[in-house]
This record gives sequence, C-alpha cells and structure tokens, in this order.
Amino acid sequence: MDKRIILVTGAGIGIGRAAALAFAAGGDHVIVTDVLETEGQAVVAEIAAAGGSAEFQPLNVRSTEAADTLIAELNRRFGGLNVIVANAGIALRVPMSEMTDEKWHETLDVDLYGMMRVIRPALPAMKEGASIICLSSIMGTNYGWDEHVHYSTAKAGVIGMIRGLAVEYAARGIRVNGVAPGYIRTAQLLNPGHSLGPDAADIASPYIPMQRLGEPAEIANVIKFLASSDASYLTGQVITVDGGLTPG
Ligand code: NAD
Repeated sequence: MDKRIILVTGAGIGIGRAAALAFAAGGDHVIVTDVLETEGQAVVAEIAAAGGSAEFQPLNVRSTEAADTLIAELNRRFGGLNVIVANAGIALRVPMSEMTDEKWHETLDVDLYGMMRVIRPALPAMKEGASIICLSSIMGTNYGWDEHVHYSTAKAGVIGMIRGLAVEYAARGIRVNGVAPGYIRTAQLLNPGHSLGPDAADIASPYIPMQRLGEPAEIANVIKFLASSDASYLTGQVITVDGGLTPG
C-alpha cells in the first residue's frame, strides 16, 4: 500500500475521531482503534462512505499484550507505521480528598502508560520521516482545575515523554510532538462525571478570550499539520490550542 499508515488510539469519538476523519480525507489509510467497537466501526463506515481508507482494530491501551499483538500484526502487514496519534484518554473528576491508589493509577494507566504501550513496540519499525503526536492538555502545562490532580500529573508526564522520545529518536528521522488542547467540545469535557460536565460551555467560555469551546476538528487540524512534511523541522514541541486561554 502506498498510502501513509496512521494509527489513532481512542478514535471512536471526540478528538480521535476528528483526527481519523482528517487523515483519511487527506488520502491516508487510518487504523481506527478504540475500546468502543460500535463507535469505531461507525468512523470506518463514515470514512468509507466519503471514499477514504480505514479499518477498525479493537485496542484497550491498558493492555501491554493487546498493544504488542496489534502493532506486531500491523508491522507484518504494512512494514511499519508512518504516524501514531496517541490520543486515548480519560478525565474523571476526583477530589484529592477522595483519591485512592486505584483511581490515581487508572488515569495514569490510560493517559500516560497507555501512550507508551502503543509507541514502544511501534518505534523499531516506524518508517523514515515518521511522526508521533501525543495528546497532552493545558492542564499538563500551565493551567490547573480542581479535582484533576491525577489528570494534570498524567498530562505533564506526557510532555516529559514527548521531549525524551524526540531527542532519542531524532537521528532515526522520527519526530515526536504534542498538542495541549484547552476546552474542547467532546464527551470527555461534557459528560456528567467527566471533566466539566454538561455546563462546560457556560463555565469555561467567560475565561476563554475567544469566548467559546474548541471543536474536535480544530485539534485534528493541528495534529495533521504536525504529522505533515510542513512540520519537517519540528520535534519535541507541544502546541497549545486553547482559544487564547493560556500563554502556552
Ligand atoms: P473523548 O472522551 O471524547 O474520547 C476519548 C477516547 O479515548 C474515547 O474514544 C475512549 O473510548 C478512548 N479510551 C478511553 N479509555 C481507553 C482505553 N483504555 N483504551 C483505548 N481507548 C480508550 O475525549 P477527547 O476529548 O476526544 O480526548 C482525546 C484526548 O484529548 C485525550 O487524551 C484527552 O485527555 C485530551 N484532551 C481533551 C480535552 C478536551 O477538552 N476535550 C482537553 C485537553 C486534552
């Protein structure tokens, strides 16, 4: 296959879905992975209906065995990946007074270890000019919100991983960058029990200079740029996309 092979984790909904659609629209073959099989299959169907190329592969990023098995199979079929979008993540509200080891571990396991689990087995076979994009957050850079200490910790860890990998793999021709979104209109932000909940737009908009939430496609566009040859000298960077909320 002469198309670029793009693997996106957590691609059934939200930012991952928008990234999958954006890459497929550009002519790439997208490996849509998620724990949400119905949603992932729907993204593949949407891409196919638009004339694009994609397939669904179930993947829970909490499983090292599942990640290793999937990457080995993709490497066998395609000879390596061109792009990984390490996107899968959770953001559950937990006040520090109610934090347990299990809740702390769950968030770091998905949001930080989960990215490493997919990137680690893929690195040796990644193609020349390959690119990895990890989803951090303004909460991992210079912004705080109550009841998200575990999430901020994971997303700050993602930035450390980006910078370390970028240096270690620059000579191999693999670029590693991140995006730090602000408040984006997805289930993670809006669903009850998650980040801000159903009133997220009312809560956050007064603080945002652009006075609105971001849309998933507005993050996908930056991910797509980072994976393109237009960003060929850009590595180890985390691009803040937040409507002017933070200095970045
Ligand atoms: P979302 O909840 O809409 O989508 C998250 C996706 O990750 C879902 O498809 C979900 O099934 C998947 N996922 C969760 N646990 C998984 C697991 N164990 N294995 C595989 N997939 C799993 O969230 P989103 O807003 O689209 O978030 C995407 C990324 O962007 C996340 O890393 C998130 O932390 C980050 N982010 C989002 C915002 C925002 O405001 N929405 C802000 C900053 C950063």
